[in-house]
Amino acid sequence: MLIEKDFSLLPFNSFHLDVRAAEFVSVKTINDLEDVIRQKTPLLILGGGSNLLLSKKVEGLVMKMDIGGIDEVKEDHTHIYVRAGAGENWHDFVNYTMQRNWGGLENLSLIPGQVGAAPIQNIGAYGVELKDTFYELEAYDRKEQKVFTLGVNDCRFGYRDSIFKSAEKGRYIILNVTFVLRKSPVLHTSYGAIREELRKMGVESPTIRDVSQAVINIRRSKLPDPADIGNAGSFFKNPVVDQAKFVSLSENYSDMPAYPHEDKSVKLAAGWLIEQCGWKGYRKGDAGVHKDQALVLVNYGHAKGKEILELSEKIEDSVYRKFGIMLEREVNVV
Ligand SMILES: Cc1cc2nc3c(=O)[nH]c(=O)nc-3n(C[C@H](O)[C@H](O)[C@H](O)COP(=O)(O)OP(=O)(O)OC[C@H]3O[C@@H](n4cnc5c(N)ncnc54)[C@H](O)[C@@H]3O)c2cc1C
Repeated sequence: MLIEKDFSLLPFNSFHLDVRAAEFVSVKTINDLEDVIRQKTPLLILGGGSNLLLSKKVEGLVMKMDIGGIDEVKEDHTHIYVRAGAGENWHDFVNYTMQRNWGGLENLSLIPGQVGAAPIQNIGAYGVELKDTFYELEAYDRKEQKVFTLGVNDCRFGYRDSIFKSAEKGRYIILNVTFVLRKSPVLHTSYGAIREELRKMGVESPTIRDVSQAVINIRRSKLPDPADIGNAGSFFKNPVVDQAKFVSLSENYSDMPAYPHEDKSVKLAAGWLIEQCGWKGYRKGDAGVHKDQALVLVNYGHAKGKEILELSEKIEDSVYRKFGIMLEREVNVV
């Protein structure tokens, strides 16, 4: 296990920011991890770097999570329990489960990143969230200095949220995640344009692989690929407002997209709010807002993390002034 000095994180973040870390180490086993922790305190646990904005040099140790492995833990008549190492690539893992016709993760196809980061913000797409198939995870607790198993109630999953992103931020290093998947898949095709895409594909009786392909097609047509242009997907969460706020806004903005949320609250589209403030397609230097997706901030080439952060703050400010809504970042700023 080699701790490298003054290490470039350029290949390790989807914004393509050329930020350096004072020290960098890749951990492939729990023993590696415990060895490192005995010597040093990691400042940043790095997965695939697809939900990160590196705004400045990391003045400490970056620990890249590379613990792999996929195991079938147990099964019953209806379900299979499958555990994946935190360092497994998320989409490869989704493919692994689909090849075996285990249902549940197909709507989450093509989300970048690694398995270990998926519970952090309870990844979600096309009407499905990680919590729907989550069974348990193992994590190294930096406070108690030992490994614990956490179940669904311990993780307190919410919309793009969990204890790992809020109450216990920085405490746990996720080592592996176990999912409970269906042997006879139940499809979720009502959300977004999935049905329409399946129709275009000429599919009448879809399988989980068809649903996955439909999701992939839609994502490719809508979201900029970080391989072409640096970005971290949605920069902000969609804000959730109460009924009174929603009613007062809809008096002025009758075409404002809105979706029912928990406890009679309403989820608004952050991208629409940002677009109304005139940011879509904005560019200053190499930092900008994507031309088709106002929710996606981009690095056109050599932007600094600080410039993207400043742009995001200007956006927050203008949305607050126009709508009285404070946007919350989905991306983790370091
Ligand atoms: C084009 C694009 C599309 C996207 N679409 C979606 C989408 O549809 N839905 C969605 O929910 N997200 C989406 N995302 C965001 C991102 O893919 C997810 O949040 C993903 O789970 C991040 O994984 P990662 O391994 O890259 O995490 P990283 O960016 O490396 O890390 C994210 C956070 O998790 C922490 N972390 C990472 N691994 C561990 C670990 N093992 N233990 C403890 N902490 C850890 C990091 O310290 C950091 O705070 C998208 C991103 C991009 C670039």
